[in-house]
Amino acid sequence: MTPGHQCVSEERLREDITANAEFGAVSTEKGHGRTVLTGTDANRRAREYLVDRFDAAGLDIRVDAVGNIAGRWVPEGVAPTTQAVACGSHLDSVPEGGIFDGVLGVYSGLEAVRALQAADATLDRPIEVVCFTEEEGARFSNGVLGSSVTSGKRSVEDALALEDDDGVRLESALSDIGFRGTGRLDASAWDSWLELHVEQGERLQDAGAAVGIVSAITGTIRCAVEIEGEANHSGSTTMAERTDALAAASELVLEVERATNDVVAEEGDTVVGTVGSLDVRPGAINVVPGRAELGIDVRDVKYEPMERIIERVQRYLSTLEAERSVETTLERPYDIAPSAMSERCMTAIRDAAAAVDVGSLSLHSGAGHDTMHVASVTETGLLFAPSRGGFSHSPREWTDWSSCATATRVLTAGLARLARE
Ligand SMILES: [Zn+2]
Repeated sequence: MTPGHQCVSEERLREDITANAEFGAVSTEKGHGRTVLTGTDANRRAREYLVDRFDAAGLDIRVDAVGNIAGRWVPEGVAPTTQAVACGSHLDSVPEGGIFDGVLGVYSGLEAVRALQAADATLDRPIEVVCFTEEEGARFSNGVLGSSVTSGKRSVEDALALEDDDGVRLESALSDIGFRGTGRLDASAWDSWLELHVEQGERLQDAGAAVGIVSAITGTIRCAVEIEGEANHSGSTTMAERTDALAAASELVLEVERATNDVVAEEGDTVVGTVGSLDVRPGAINVVPGRAELGIDVRDVKYEPMERIIERVQRYLSTLEAERSVETTLERPYDIAPSAMSERCMTAIRDAAAAVDVGSLSLHSGAGHDTMHVASVTETGLLFAPSRGGFSHSPREWTDWSSCATATRVLTAGLARLARE
């Protein structure tokens, strides 16, 4: 019997990814990108193409209430109710995003099924290929929207009520493009889950490895800090009379960097802390800033080191209040715990890489992925394919077609292993 991974067709995979790249296509000097926001015409066309391809492969297709799409293949002799091994990713993008981000995960999953079908693989479980709604969060949410519903972290009702900046609800946007389905895709019903994604970094390229085996996805804590001072005339207000919100904010920016570096020294370089946004009011050159809003983003593979940084930020805010007479508030609107991948799935991927005879590298993921939600309800694995130059969320994003095919072979062999246990 031919192993399934030997039936993976680079040509077929390339055809699908190239076809998908035309939906919402953006051509720039830097390369070919795409803008595919949830519920847009480009999103409709991408979804319709996927459904056609699922149909051509003979999959049972289901669209749930929040627009997640699943195609299920039940191999011969397998009871249809058996828990499936699932895989997939997303087809939405950031504005002017790349053509591989998410797309590789969806179409490599489909190609894996086609290869296993062609090889007449003997399996004990169905295989389900999934496209989650709005992983990027570019229109309705903070991201990983569809997967948060499949894991039960967010209800269908809450998701459908989300609105974009123009007050359009997710529910009507999905209805408009014909992808407001029924029911809820339930990730806890899957035996296990694998996601293949582009690395969006350079570690694989530097190591010359064909595939990355992710051990953990970092958690993220985001804080919104407001510092209230007093706006006043920059000419007639003496230095002693000022309560400058931006000067206080500047000290906080440096404290976030110091606090993070201190934790890095103890925990290693998986810990990162960033002040990525700063809004100053009134924002005029001749006015002492009266108000500053900062956005802080802290990530690590462990939760406790992130907490330590946030605690230091809180202590420092008290110091600023005492020393600079500002008033401060800190909110924590986004808080996702790190997720460890399962031993069983990591072993399946490692064995798969050995069977395909390619080098692999164990690493962590600093970027969030749908897999982190799935990981809260079933066993999961995440694989990376090398990104040229590490570019992503940009038209410069590129993964060689041969690298896409190789990583897809590893995915195929991994799925087959999980589906045979
Ligand atoms: Zn992605």
